[in-house]
Amino acid sequence: MYKLLPAALLALTMITESAPPASPPHPIAIVIHGGAGRMDKAKLTPARQKEYHATLEASLQAGHAILKKGGTSLDAVQAAIMVMEDSALYNAGKGSVFTSAGRNELDASLMDGRTLAAGAVGGVTILKNPILAARAVMDHTPHVLLTNEGAEAFAKNRGLELVKPEYFHTDQRWRQLQEWKKKKATSKQTFLDEKHADYFGTVGCVALDAKGNLAAGTSTGGLTGKQFGRIGDSPIIGAGTYANNKTCGISCTGHGEFFIRYAVAHDISAHMEYKQSTLAQAAHDIVQIKLKKAKGSGGIIGIDAKGNIVMEFNTPAMNRGSIDKHGKLTTGIFK
Ligand code: ASP
Repeated sequence: MYKLLPAALLALTMITESAPPASPPHPIAIVIHGGAGRMDKAKLTPARQKEYHATLEASLQAGHAILKKGGTSLDAVQAAIMVMEDSALYNAGKGSVFTSAGRNELDASLMDGRTLAAGAVGGVTILKNPILAARAVMDHTPHVLLTNEGAEAFAKNRGLELVKPEYFHTDQRWRQLQEWKKKKATSKQTFLDEKHADYFGTVGCVALDAKGNLAAGTSTGGLTGKQFGRIGDSPIIGAGTYANNKTCGISCTGHGEFFIRYAVAHDISAHMEYKQSTLAQAAHDIVQIKLKKAKGSGGIIGIDAKGNIVMEFNTPAMNRGSIDKHGKLTTGIFK
């Protein structure tokens, strides 16, 4: 019957038959956190709040610009986190908190939801942007987690920017350590007590790119007064960070020991995979029920494979922001 059709019509028919079905473009989305805690509203001046919102927005825009150009979610997460690492406002990179020994020891991790590849560094003291070192571990070693001098020597070899340990010193964090020491001297409380919960400033990001790939990353100075050598959940894949295209990407903030014990980031993904929970249900069940029952305080951010965003926390505040799949930007601090 093709013989009966005029040549032009025949060509058109053939083109239509061989063209792949048009699929709608994949949504892009990005979500960040800047730490959860009990941040006292009265102490946070309007000017300071403005600064937080402005940095959150700059971080979101840095990541979103990459996604809009068709860049990868890994690059977007890295770019967004670097903005916060370079700001003294956050407990990551420049504004990191002090250990009990008066040093800054930083942790970071990054995970690719497409391949489940991951990289992390723990206890680093001279790397300007620990998230870049985590990326390099993922891209250029067969390992997932490098710590201390080993991580630093590796990053130096890769040509990453090194700084003197003093670069991380800020007066505000130093004061926090002195306050922590005073409190510790007069109370029997330990890190396991809820009242010590203040994790304001750790940073994290999750992104979904136009190819449908999820990535998640987290960066932190840890907890004020932590014992030197202590490593929290942030560089532990499955605890502080997790990403899997099948389910979601997650970055956590809060009392790291609980997030490690309860494998929080992976547990949310597992609820979605095995219980068919939605991201919102899984995040609620784990943060508001399971963790709360165990007195583990903190929060999480996440995106699922369809671009749905969640920001769940059981503390009075969590620094956070997102640009959703419709392009809507929001930032927030308190509940
Ligand atoms: N989770 C981090 C840690 O325990 C702290 C934080 O989120 O602020 O090291």
